[in-house]
Amino acid sequence: ADLYGVKSWSGGYFDVAENGDLCIKPSPASKTRVSIPEIIAGIRDRGFEMPVLLRIENILDSQISLIHKSFGSAIKKLGYKGEFRGVYPIKVNQQEQVIGEICAFGSRFHHGLEVGSKAELITALSHLTDHQACLICNGYKDAEFIDLALYARKMGFNCFLVLEMPSELELVLERAAALGIDPQIGIRIKVSSQVGGHWAESAGDLSIFGLSASEVVDALDRLKAEGKLDCVRLLHFHLGSQVPNIRDIRTAVHEVCRMYAELAAEGCPMGYLDLGGGLAVDYDGSHTNFESSRNYSLEEYCSDVVESVMTALDERDIPHPHIVTESGRATVAYYSVLLFDVMDVSRLENRPLPDVVPDDCPDPVHNLLEVYQAITPRKLQECYNDAIFYRDEMRQQFNLGQCTLRQRAMGETIFWAIMRKVADTMDDLKAPPRGLTDISYPLASIYYCNMSVFQSLPDAWAIDQLFPIMPLHRLNEQPTEKALLADITCDCDGKIDHFIDPREVKRVLELHSFEPGEPYYMGAFLVGAYQETLGDLHNLFGDTNVVSVRLGEDGGFDIVREQEGDSVADVLSYVEYDPKTVAGNFRNTAEQAVRDGRLTPQERRDVMKAFRNCLNGYTYLHSK
Ligand code: PLP
Repeated sequence: ADLYGVKSWSGGYFDVAENGDLCIKPSPASKTRVSIPEIIAGIRDRGFEMPVLLRIENILDSQISLIHKSFGSAIKKLGYKGEFRGVYPIKVNQQEQVIGEICAFGSRFHHGLEVGSKAELITALSHLTDHQACLICNGYKDAEFIDLALYARKMGFNCFLVLEMPSELELVLERAAALGIDPQIGIRIKVSSQVGGHWAESAGDLSIFGLSASEVVDALDRLKAEGKLDCVRLLHFHLGSQVPNIRDIRTAVHEVCRMYAELAAEGCPMGYLDLGGGLAVDYDGSHTNFESSRNYSLEEYCSDVVESVMTALDERDIPHPHIVTESGRATVAYYSVLLFDVMDVSRLENRPLPDVVPDDCPDPVHNLLEVYQAITPRKLQECYNDAIFYRDEMRQQFNLGQCTLRQRAMGETIFWAIMRKVADTMDDLKAPPRGLTDISYPLASIYYCNMSVFQSLPDAWAIDQLFPIMPLHRLNEQPTEKALLADITCDCDGKIDHFIDPREVKRVLELHSFEPGEPYYMGAFLVGAYQETLGDLHNLFGDTNVVSVRLGEDGGFDIVREQEGDSVADVLSYVEYDPKTVAGNFRNTAEQAVRDGRLTPQERRDVMKAFRNCLNGYTYLHSK
């Protein structure tokens, strides 16, 4: 059985091999499978340690081409007259390598870029060479930003300045006049339809971006007065990221098309309709409108969008615009996998139960043993309730000095034995009592993982975003443990205890037994979007090593790029320490220890060596 739901969430890029290894496929249609544990062995042989962010170039290439081909076939099938022009929003993952690869793989489709700041505009201008590709400038703008975008236009870039707020228009007009360059203006509107999901606030009347209907009218009047209405070429809206329900997309597209038609009727030449991001990723594989999923396929999204635009504009006889989408998540999520190893496990020990409880023990301890002996499948809920009641009573008596430490320890041993027996009995029941479904959670083992949730999976911590997480090998073995994952930061939020499941969110993950000295590798999937950018330096765990691979159709792989993760010295310098001063200070302290007779000069040498190794080494733990 597909215990981890790989077939449902993998988009066809991951698969379990007969030997129990998780494999990557270069594209959903490919028959080739490359084992992730073999890639890990290759990475480790070259001296790279876990955790590693693995980027699979083929997947990025394949996703860009799937998006374009799906829009292409919807356009062809429906007889739509405009073209599809995808752009990638740089904020979703700004890493140089990612932007470079998107421009390279996207060039055959004229895939463009979307920027929301001056820094992102600079990035785009240094990578984009295709003048048919769109360069969409969203975000708040000052004169410097606008000037650069105007110069880009003059140089032949298909660059659009999108008005995010009314006051931007004056500045655009002023700078355009000063430089003598006519801009291509886009207008971002507030749509009234709002959607479900984590990022719903990008739309609706209270959205902080975009122009309201009356502000659009003001802008049109102002442009008319300046004789610049012919600069208005694009209408933009963004419903929010990860829109799980296709109905919300259809409703919003219809509203935006009405607005597009009105702008055309006002005399704007138009030509481009930019539907923003929002194309969701099915993180949990449930194919539903749950916030970590989507109730539509890529093909459905494309044909619904094209059909809605066509229907709305044909009614008014308005020429079909080029359709622009700014899909970030759907483009890059699949392409990165966080690989990490388990360092240790802590589990609730199965201690032997007493046959009888000594007479001098307080009553609740006696009661707990009776509850244990009374457990039957039909009395699970009752036994569970009683166990909690007697355990709390025993603890109260302990606080009042009526129960000794040893008596309490005996009572707690019996309590946990009850919990385990209830959980085991429940596993055998077809319809376990509803109130007990969370019982595995307090009994779960804790798997300590060599990574930082804050650095590598920030959305899992900040907004309870679900990512598929699973072992990368031994998948032909039945897991024996129920576990939650703890990272190596010293923060009690540094854990993962919500896991994907097609039916409900699970609090524990089924894992194989961990044998000290034997590597146990796990992966967090679909982490290519937003996670690298939003990750932080909590506890000074820095960027992980990054390794990019290209898979061959022969089942081999080439390591095409390696990027060393941060050293301790690197992260110290990010928070304004000078590593040389840090080392100098410590050397002085060590020399003082020699003067005080605590260290010999030779010991000082060893201490300094250990200090330097740590300072120049990786911020994560070395595997044993
Ligand atoms: N465009 C704009 C204006 C955005 O604000 C965002 C992100 O929220 C995106 C595109 C990317 O959205 P997604 O990653 O859902 O495709």
